[in-house]
Amino acid sequence: MKRARRRVLVTGGAGFLGSHLCERLLESGAEVLCVDNFFTGARENIAHLLAHPRFEVMRHDVTFPLYVEVDEIYNLACPASPVHYQHNPVQTVKTSVHGAINMLGLAKRTGARILQASTSEVYGDPTVHPQPEDYRGHVNPIGPRACYDEGKRCAETLFCDYHRQHGIPIRVARIFNTYGPRMHPNDGRVVSNFIVQALTGEPITLYGEGSQTRSFCYVDDLVEGLIRLMAAPDAATGPVNLGNPTEVSVRALAETVLRLTGSRAPLVRRPLPADDPVQRCPDIGKARRLLGWEPTVPLEEGLRRTIRHFAEVLDLPPLPRQA
Ligand code: NAD
Ligand code: UDP
Ligand code: UDP
Repeated sequence: MKRARRRVLVTGGAGFLGSHLCERLLESGAEVLCVDNFFTGARENIAHLLAHPRFEVMRHDVTFPLYVEVDEIYNLACPASPVHYQHNPVQTVKTSVHGAINMLGLAKRTGARILQASTSEVYGDPTVHPQPEDYRGHVNPIGPRACYDEGKRCAETLFCDYHRQHGIPIRVARIFNTYGPRMHPNDGRVVSNFIVQALTGEPITLYGEGSQTRSFCYVDDLVEGLIRLMAAPDAATGPVNLGNPTEVSVRALAETVLRLTGSRAPLVRRPLPADDPVQRCPDIGKARRLLGWEPTVPLEEGLRRTIRHFAEVLDLPPLPRQA
């Protein structure tokens, strides 16, 4: 008998993206099971959902098998900030690889459709710009970022092999840098670092010249893309880039954050981390075509919302430009 309500598993559901995704899935009427080992996620991210009758949370590490009954799986469990994924690189590889095997095994047994949160890091330090899905990437397999990049590449391999070998319905989202409320203040990624530094008057830490580029997507846009991708027909089986194609340099991002916060925090230079990609920008033609999706929140608007969030969690007075 077909159940009326979709049961959706979100691994990494207490993290930044996962908590927003759980929220959206509940709004859509689904039953949501959030599975997280709370390595980088936090109970506060999902505190407002705990009383919801269709929400359940389970502390569990995806490197161990998981036996539950579900219709859809969003596999987001994995630390995403370089500081965190390099803290215990072996565990990062295990999370991506053993986690993918377990979640694919679960999908195989239950017949669930499964979506992998992959990453633009599968393109490494790209030599093709912007990056389309058929670009195979330029990754250093033995560098400090490899535990994340190669772990995610291997997870993509597993997804495609489970699809070919066992007919599992898969979706693979290659997510580009995403930011927004609920990033952890000590997350270590550039948007949260710059905003927290600007709001507290600490020096803004510019790694290298700041001429390297990224393309930043606001979290609500990204979550909409994930939901559309999961619902998309089988033509969307191959990887799909999800990100905002507006590219900015890290220095320009610092200047924008300073202007929007009205902060006088100085810029300080720090060494560029090893293997830091020089440029990154998604080609989102495939997402536009297959999902009718593109980002709608411009960078300054998304930054304003994120700044308001951090001012609240850091308990700071209202900002001059937002008063
Ligand atoms: P995050 O660190 O906030 O969330 C990751 C979550 O996974 C956390 O709640 C963490 O506790 C949990 N987790 C980690 N290891 C686990 C394990 N072994 N078992 C169970 N739970 C585990 O990061 P995020 O930004 O929300 O990223 C979510 C996913 O999206 C990750 O897979 C990440 O690689 C991917 N992604 C994110 C971005 C981005 O810019 N935010 C870009 C590309 C890909
Ligand atoms: N698995 C799981 N939950 C399930 C089914 C499987 O966690 O509901 C795990 C199980 O530990 C297994 C892995 O997924 O090792 C891969 O499953 P698969 O059926 O592909 O392989 P096998 O069981 O033959 O190793
Ligand atoms: N970065 C920076 N200052 C910081 C944190 C990061 O200049 O305090 C730079 C980093 O070197 C990289 C870019 O910002 O070039 C994005 O870094 P992040 O860690 O957010 O993501 P990723 O490198 O994975 O894209």
